[in-house]
Formats: sequence, C-alpha cells, structure tokens
Amino acid sequence: MANVVVVGAQWGDEGKGKIVDWLSERADVIARFQGGHNAGHTLVIGEKVFKLSLLPSGIVRKGKMAVIGNGVVLDPWSLFSEIAKLEAQGVEIGPENLMIAENTPLILPLHQDLDQLREAAAGTSKIGTTGRGIGPAYEDKVGRRTIRVADLADEETLDSRLDRLLAHHDALRQGLGATPIDRAELKAKLQDIAPRLLQYAQPVWKVMNDYRKAGKRILFEGAQGSLLDIDFGTYPYVTSSTTMSGMAATGTGMGPSAIGFVLGIVKAYTTRVGEGPFPTELEDADGQRLGERGHEFGTVTGRKRRCGWFDAVLVRQTCAISGVNGIALTKLDVMDGFKTIKICTGYEIDGVHYDHLPTAAALQSRVTPIYEEMDGWEESTQGARSWADLPANAIKYVRRIEELIQCPVALLSTSPERDDTILVTDPFAD
Ligand code: IMP
Repeated sequence: MANVVVVGAQWGDEGKGKIVDWLSERADVIARFQGGHNAGHTLVIGEKVFKLSLLPSGIVRKGKMAVIGNGVVLDPWSLFSEIAKLEAQGVEIGPENLMIAENTPLILPLHQDLDQLREAAAGTSKIGTTGRGIGPAYEDKVGRRTIRVADLADEETLDSRLDRLLAHHDALRQGLGATPIDRAELKAKLQDIAPRLLQYAQPVWKVMNDYRKAGKRILFEGAQGSLLDIDFGTYPYVTSSTTMSGMAATGTGMGPSAIGFVLGIVKAYTTRVGEGPFPTELEDADGQRLGERGHEFGTVTGRKRRCGWFDAVLVRQTCAISGVNGIALTKLDVMDGFKTIKICTGYEIDGVHYDHLPTAAALQSRVTPIYEEMDGWEESTQGARSWADLPANAIKYVRRIEELIQCPVALLSTSPERDDTILVTDPFAD
C-alpha cells in the first residue's frame, strides 16, 4: 500500500478539502506537514459543513489519527477555538485522535502583530498575507529563537526562549512604532495553555515510523499550493513554507521513501488570493463568471479570489517539481456553459517563447500567455459520477489538460459532494 501525499498544484484553493476527506476515509493516519491556520479547507459531509484551518481533515472521521507535524507552525489559541467549533458540531477530539509533534514551533500573538504591521507598512508592495503570523513564525524557527511545543513543559527553558525571542521582537517593534511586548503577560498566557497543549505532544517522527512499520495507511495533507512555495512559487508573493510534496517527509520526520503516490489537486481553471503575478488572470465578464460560478471567496479571509483560464504551463511545472503521479481535477462543472474555453499552453516575452514560468520577477510580470481555444459545452457536468455522464467536449478538455501537463487524471470531482467523484486510479492502491 502506498502512502499518499496531497498537494495543491496551483495557488491554493484547488478543492483539496473534499479530496482529502474522500481519501481520509481509506487512511488510518492523516498528517499536516507544513503551513498553519492560513489554510482553509471546507468539508461537506452529508448535511454538515466543516471548516478547518489547522486541524488535518481526518479529524472529523471516527477512528483516524490526525497528526500535526513539525513542519507546521501552530497557533495554540486558534487550535483550541477550532477544536471548540468542531466539538459543537459533534466531533470528539482528544489525544486518542490528535497528536502534535513536540518540535512544532508556535505562532504567538507577536507574530500576528508583526505580520500585520509589516503589511501595513509595505503599502503597495504588500504580499497580501492572511495576517495570521505565518511568515514571522517561520522566520523565528529558522532564526533559532522560536518557542516549540516541548519548551512549554519546563519553566527555565521557556524563560530563556522568551528572553531571546523578545530581544529580537522588541527591537523590530520599536522600528515599526509598536509598543514592546508585555513579557509577564505572554509568559502567563503560555503557561496557561501549556497543560492543554502538552497532552497532545508526541515524538511524531517516532510514532509515524512505527505506523509505517505496522503497515498503516498514511495520508499527508498539504496546504496552500505549489505556486505559493517559498522556493518555487512566485517569490516574494508566496507563503513561508515548502508546499511541495517532499516536505511531507521532513515535515513529519520520515524519510522520502515514506512517500508513495503524489496526488496533485488541480482546479479546472486558475485562481489566486493576494498579490503577485497571474499570467492568465481575467478581468472581464469571463473572470466574473468563473468567480461567481466557482464561489471564489477565501475561506480564511473572505477575500475575493482573482480568476483566470487554466494555465497548463504552471501546472506542468509544479507537477514536475512535486513529482505528481496523478491529478485530481476539481470544479469541472464551473466551466459548464462557456461557448469557448481557453487554455494557456506557453508564454511569450518580447517575441521569445517560454515553456515554463521564468524565475526573474521582471520577466514574470511581462509574460503574455499563448492560448489554445476549445469549444465549450452546454450540458451540466455537475454531479457526474462516470465518464459516460460527461459531454464529449468536457472529456476533450480534460484529455487536453492531461496531455499538456504530462500527467494523468486519477480523480475527477464534479461537485462539493464527496460522492460526485469519478475514480480513474486509486492513489492508495499504487
Ligand atoms: P501567508 O501564508 O499568510 O503568509 O500569505 C502569503 C500568501 O499566501 C498570500 O498571497 C495568501 O493569500 C496566500 N495563502 C496563504 N494560505 C493560503 C491558502 O490556504 N489558500 C490560498 N492562498 C493562501
């Protein structure tokens, strides 16, 4: 049995929630390995709609172990409020179904402050972050001054971590015109949540390797999207973690051979939230139509998402970098009713053809997409559960996408309902 890694192959919001939920029914363990509560996954199970930010999607299913790995940045207060919301919806959460890596760095209120202060100070060059402190928390991890979950167990360690951390942040805050941190208040807040958080703390690397030896099925749940990757995304308009599949291993403490099937989640068109280049963006009636039909508003911030045609260049690129074995194509039904549909097959800059997105920001901003036009379809594909239910032109569109991105479709999703899915290849069976 292969373990499965799910990654978004565009700018996030590809519809990972539904696919992860669909797969998590077949998994024993569901692990988050990067990002934090900047993610927003919506799960529709029967009549109930669950909105998750930090918790792995498997948490809503009985008998599964949900894991938050060391690659994540964790805001304990946000975690507790998410747990409270789910409990109010009847989901039981305790150490028997939730485990947090002891070496997970914490997001503190000072990280959120810094994120928002910086964005406000940046004016027109802002990144458009979710304002949740993700970037500053990762900076402190790499800067070797973060507070990790295990540090909460010992007052002396906590004191020394706070000293180092606040020396850095108070200097930054002064520069940004903010007041210094109230150390005593922060320490008291941390000591207050410590017992509750520590009950979930585990050497996740060890437990995960034991699970692997025992033949448990592991589903690694990626957040955000490949084009927001800190190295390979549209830098600096990216998030601060590695969103590519390789992170599943280091973000939970396993070797790369623990990764079996890499499933890339791909939306049948393109969206992005926040600032940054977007070659196929549409600011016309077609873009409006995609946004309305696709309900393209951010789960976390409620911001309107920018919309555009499918960009095969970008998806081919991210599928290569993440070693995607198969894609789950989502929201095909949003394309219903277009007379013609465009797909971006390459770029042109000053008469030069590119088969990939160049790295240099100056080139990225001058990219002109080269489009191929296809006939659309009138019929509804919503709720289709077999290829036979799809109009011929919709099948042609899907096949052309496969060809252009050089990667086959493993799953096709035709509505938010979990059973409205066409299975081509079972990722767990590979
Ligand atoms: P940050 O992750 O809050 O630092 O935001 C950095 C960039 O990533 C911004 O453009 C955000 O809109 C984007 N972003 C972060 N998380 C998500 C997500 O889950 N879906 C889509 N975009 C996201």
